[in-house]
Amino acid sequence: MKFETLAIHAGQEPDPNNGAVMTPIYQTSTYAQDGVAKPRQGYEYSRTKNPTRLALENCLAALEGAEYGLAFSSGMAATDNILRLVDGGAHVLAGNDVYGGTFRLFDKVLRRYGLSFNFVDTTDPENVAESLKPETRMVWLETPTNPLLSVTDIRAVAEIVHAHPNHPLLVVDNTFATPYLQRPLELGADIVVHSMTKYLGGHSDVVSGAAIVKDKAVFDKLAFLQNAVGAVPGPMDCFLVLRGIKTLHVRMDRHAENAASLVDFLAGHPKVSRLFYPFHSSHPQAQVAKKQMRNGGGMISFILKGGRDAAVRMAEATKIFTLAESLGGVESLIEVPAAMTHLSTAGSQIAVDPGLVRLSVGIENKEDLLKDVEQAMEKA
Ligand SMILES: *Cc1c(COP(=O)(O)O)cnc(C)c1O
Repeated sequence: MKFETLAIHAGQEPDPNNGAVMTPIYQTSTYAQDGVAKPRQGYEYSRTKNPTRLALENCLAALEGAEYGLAFSSGMAATDNILRLVDGGAHVLAGNDVYGGTFRLFDKVLRRYGLSFNFVDTTDPENVAESLKPETRMVWLETPTNPLLSVTDIRAVAEIVHAHPNHPLLVVDNTFATPYLQRPLELGADIVVHSMTKYLGGHSDVVSGAAIVKDKAVFDKLAFLQNAVGAVPGPMDCFLVLRGIKTLHVRMDRHAENAASLVDFLAGHPKVSRLFYPFHSSHPQAQVAKKQMRNGGGMISFILKGGRDAAVRMAEATKIFTLAESLGGVESLIEVPAAMTHLSTAGSQIAVDPGLVRLSVGIENKEDLLKDVEQAMEKA
């Protein structure tokens, strides 16, 4: 089946008990057993397995073209569990423009447990080749990145990583693209991670994460960690994400269409010193983006010539774009990463320009959105 059909049906059979078409919210922590240590249909305890979560996990796997999906209580919980696949002493190579929270987890938390990290510019795959060490056990990519929308050639990096004698795992954070735009496992990645808080949920009403895995042995280890660590989402959250995913393809097409009209305005604007949009001709990796993504997505970043003050004035002047963190919902959002989402990177090697503005373009009317950005830009 094609993506659109899978988004609506994968993992979701009518309920065997009563035919309910929508997956019920199985709000239960435990399950009656037929005898001692004889669970019915494999359900014992909801940290381990829950029918609503299982439907979501199977749907996610289908969308990424894999067999195994796992849901977590947040994108960061998924990331943390994936990092627990490697032992202390290992080296992890990561992109130098990863999500601020990912950088914070690696740099401020996991370093204390004996992991070492390098952050390199993965947009040039040669940098990955040069930075791999004998003890490298994981390579962490984000593409497009948050907030600079840098694009890395997943297939090229996968070839380099898989040639390494110690078989590091290649992980791709696919939050910005979603499986509708890009399927990293088909390009050679081993694990895909999502913040489902963003486009998969799509309505800014749930915090959730996922890991989708190609290989059964890696899945078994990660499923063990999911249960052992316990950062699982509740059934209500799983239901909300399942419902969000049903319209993912429709929303992503509209996000991209709306973004395209704003990109045209911003690209030529005299107050903008740099624009970042994966499918725009000015983007240094536009060719790679067009090769591995279906469309340019709904995220736009740009640097204002007026620096931090101009960015703050603009972000405080929009009327339809809400000044808020997060992204990927149906409503448009605006933020200043250096002062908000990416504050944790201040002063570090991956600090962002204080004049950077990030838009999460929603699916409102595109002329309304354009007018709003135009009037806010006058104040910048
Ligand atoms: C938001 C985000 C995360 C973290 O996800 P949470 O659900 O907020 O924990 C990870 N990666 C990217 C690219 C994100 O945008």
